[in-house]
Formats: sequence, structure tokens, C-alpha cells
Amino acid sequence: MKINSNFDLLVPNYLFADVARKTNEFAAANPDKEIIRLGIGDVTLPIAPIVVASMKKGCEDLRHKETFKGYPEYEGYDFVREAVSGYYKSYGVKVGADEIFISDGAKSDCGNLGDIFSQDNTVLVTDPVYPVYVDANLMAGRKIIYAAATQENHFLAMPDENVKADIIYLCSPGNPTGAAYSAEQLKIWVDYANKNGAVIIYDAAYEAFIKDESPRSIFCIEGARTCAIELCSLSKTAGFTGTRCGYTVIPKELERDGHNLHSMWYRRQATKFNGVSWPVQCAAAEVFSAEGQNQIKENLDYYSGNAKIIASALDELGIYYTGGKNSPYIWLKCPNGMGSWEFFDYLLQNAAVVGTPGEGFGENGKGFFRLTSFGDRDKTIEAVERIKNLLK
Ligand code: PLP
Repeated sequence: MKINSNFDLLVPNYLFADVARKTNEFAAANPDKEIIRLGIGDVTLPIAPIVVASMKKGCEDLRHKETFKGYPEYEGYDFVREAVSGYYKSYGVKVGADEIFISDGAKSDCGNLGDIFSQDNTVLVTDPVYPVYVDANLMAGRKIIYAAATQENHFLAMPDENVKADIIYLCSPGNPTGAAYSAEQLKIWVDYANKNGAVIIYDAAYEAFIKDESPRSIFCIEGARTCAIELCSLSKTAGFTGTRCGYTVIPKELERDGHNLHSMWYRRQATKFNGVSWPVQCAAAEVFSAEGQNQIKENLDYYSGNAKIIASALDELGIYYTGGKNSPYIWLKCPNGMGSWEFFDYLLQNAAVVGTPGEGFGENGKGFFRLTSFGDRDKTIEAVERIKNLLK
């Protein structure tokens, strides 16, 4: 037998392992120093009480014959899909409940969606990029091309009319850059995709952090229904990183190559996915209730407050960055021309603060650095003070 030799194309990613190793070595050599981690990509605050109450009620249902649930619908329970549809409506976007697939998170669908597309398609991603888009498509044997996101375009890559792509991954607000596309910019992508017969896979995992008029969904843009699929997640929105739930929207009218993509995805899910558990779907629906929205906002505001503290310090220091305003991520230019790892070491050795070197996210991440706002408020303030003292 032969294995999938496409795995040989994957570039080993030692980023987080190297960060952990260097941090541990520093901790061992400096037991008196308190290390503050501003590199974490996971949430730290607990799930909102009303959401947990709904999950508990879902568990209780499973204990009784009358309310027991077996296999869920492949596409999710109707009341959850209605709740998601209502959420879109709350900010003016029309997405039918029957266009929504409840998932076990955005990461799975980022890669799984490839099942409905040919291996011969060319995939366009931005550089820097959330590495899952690249690795999932390399595993599937697709060719990857890159659209440069740099300081010149404020880390918002735009399409090149001379480049032909079939599948386009966009993430806004982006990980790692925190940059959010404007409606005008997204319209250019949508027009490009419709003109070229491409499909945009739009990752809106961080939409709940948007504070200004930046679109929260690709479906805010005219023409998106004929070229886009949207992924979203409750991971960062409502603390579901461990609980696992998200949703994928495929408009009913989205067709390519004579096929309806919604129907194809339904078939794919019915074959390879048996749905999200009842207690988790109960919890997910509660996230979208009025009180659920109130309660999750507390955590979102906490993280956004941390992001603002970091961003304000960079403003004071005159350091270029993107993100921080519509995003839990802050993507900064390493000061004094330092490389990403050089700055990592400098910050660790002199301030005992840990971040993530940008070059782990692509060539254009060289010389940049990612900080996150998912940590504790007091520690974020302390880290920012240390950074200011070091760099001022
Ligand atoms: N998409 C992006 C851009 C992310 O940064 C992440 C998590 O870090 C995910 C998707 C994964 O989301 P989920 O937890 O829903 O799988």
C-alpha cells in the first residue's frame, strides 16, 4: 500500500514547540521571574452561566426516556439553525436557517470543505495566514498560491486580476494579523470570485470582536451568495474552544461546474459527520438568546479591553501594528528592525513576556510579532508596563 505522499509536502511547524521550549528554558534559568504569556490563542474565561445552564438541561434530557436524544440531524437541530439565522438577521444579513450547517467548529470545516472540490483546483491564501488552510489543502494535493499581506496594504491582501485562483480563503478579522476588511475591499474580492468562477471560503471566526462598520459576514456584500461559503465558530465568541461548536453557511444558489454546493456539502456531511451532541447544541442556541448575547458580551468586552490596553501602549511607543481594535490579536512590527525570533528572545530575556513570532505564519510574517488579548487583565497590564519600560 501507499500512504498519502502529500504529507511529505507539509513543512514541519515547530513554532509553538519552539516557543514552549525557549519559555521553559528561560523559566528554569530564572525561577524568580514571573513570565507573562501574551501568545496564547485559547480563551481563558469560563462559559456564560446561562449557556452552561442550557448545556446542563441538555444533559438532563439525556437521562430520561421521554426526552432522550440519539443521533442528531447531520445539519444540526432546527432551533439552533433558526437561532443562528436570527443572529445574522440582527445585523441585517439574510441567511436562511436551511442554509446553515451546525459543525463541531470552524477548523474541521476549513479542511473538510475540500471534499466537495477537485484536487486540481488552485487555492489562494494570504501570507501571513492561519496555517490550517495551507496544510489541509497540501494534504489534499492542491496547489497553493499566496496573496501578499504586508505593511503596504495594512495586512489586507487584495486580488490580482492576473492571477487565477479557484478556492480563496479569507479570514476577517484575521488571524494572525487582526486586520479586518472593509465592505469596499470585500466587494472587490466578491467581484473577482464571481468573475473567475472561484469560491471564497470566508472564515468569520472572530466576527464577534468587530466594533466598527467592518462587515461581520461576507454575506453583507452584494454578490457573495453566488461565490461564498462562510465558516463561523463559537470558540472565541462564547468560550467553546473545548466544547466544540460552530456553523457553516452555504447559500442555496451557490453552484459551480453544474453542481449545487449546498447539496454536495449535505451529502458529504451525511456520509462523514454524525452531528454535534444535544447538550452542546442546546448550549449553542442559548448563546444567541437575548440574555446569552448579554452574558457573552462581558467576556468579549474583557478581551477587547485587553487588546485596547496593548494597542494603546504601541500607539504611545509609535510602533506600527494591525488589529487590536476589531480583533483579539495585535500584530506588530518588531522594533529597531529586529527579526521575529530576535524580538521574541529580546522580550523574553528582558521583560519575561512571551508572544508569537510572526514568521511562523508565513514569509511576510518575518519581522512581525503577534500578541493576544486572551489573558488575564492584571497580567496584560503588567506585561504592557514591562514592554513600555523596555522599548521607550
Ligand atoms: N479559524 C481561525 C482563523 C482560527 O484562528 C481558529 C482558531 O484559532 C479557528 C478557525 C478554529 O476554530 P474552532 O475552534 O471553531 O475549530
